[in-house]
Amino acid sequence: MRLLAALAVFVFSVAGPASAADAPLADGHIHYSKPDWSVYTPDQIVDILDKAGMRRALVSSTPDDGTLKLYDRDPKRFVPMLRPYRTRDDMGTWWRDPAILPYLEQRLAKGVHRGIGEFHINGKDIRTPVLQRITEIAVQRNLYLQAHSDEAAVIELFAIEPKSKIIWAHAGMSSSAAAVGALMDKQPNLWADLSYRYGGDGSRSSPWPPRPAASSNSSRPTSRTRSLRRISSGSFRSFHGQGRGGALAGPH
Ligand SMILES: [Zn+2]
Repeated sequence: MRLLAALAVFVFSVAGPASAADAPLADGHIHYSKPDWSVYTPDQIVDILDKAGMRRALVSSTPDDGTLKLYDRDPKRFVPMLRPYRTRDDMGTWWRDPAILPYLEQRLAKGVHRGIGEFHINGKDIRTPVLQRITEIAVQRNLYLQAHSDEAAVIELFAIEPKSKIIWAHAGMSSSAAAVGALMDKQPNLWADLSYRYGGDGSRSSPWPPRPAASSNSSRPTSRTRSLRRISSGSFRSFHGQGRGGALAGPH
């Protein structure tokens, strides 16, 4: 199943004037981690998404139990992703910690997760036995990798396992539009969300992503428009009701 085909909110209509209005809305980047549980119940979160018209949402959490709380509440709406974090302490060590592998295998045995992530890693840290195995597991189980990473990490992940399917969280956060576009044109199995970007032309206030050339009068998609089909929005919504920015706040 092409999960992202159903999931993505297409921020530009490239298929015709009717498609934007008809497209179901989804949020490509949500967390429901432990501090959030006492602030918003799953019922309240469903209510928030209903009011926003969000019919689906990609969700991950630390620990994973938060993701499963939402999935259990509405398995058609929430698309579970599995972070390699048993606790927040794992964020700084997970890629070189062999104990992460049996943890992932055990959680994936539930059979509900559609990907591994969101995880945080830089290109210089990719070449470890743990990452090697995670990319193998992802391909074997047909799972997406959701990577909050620099460009080098995305390139390295595809180098380890060319069959990987990668969702590039925050579209590299501060990576330039040109760099993101070039990488997406090169890798057909690379998707990206636009949540929480900042800095330079990564800002959401600047022209982003780059539009295809207006001069094209061909109905045949260009490589650039094919990339746009793989870009989704994401609120980077972490359900910290008391956090900065209300419900639209909270790092990871
Ligand atoms: Zn995130």
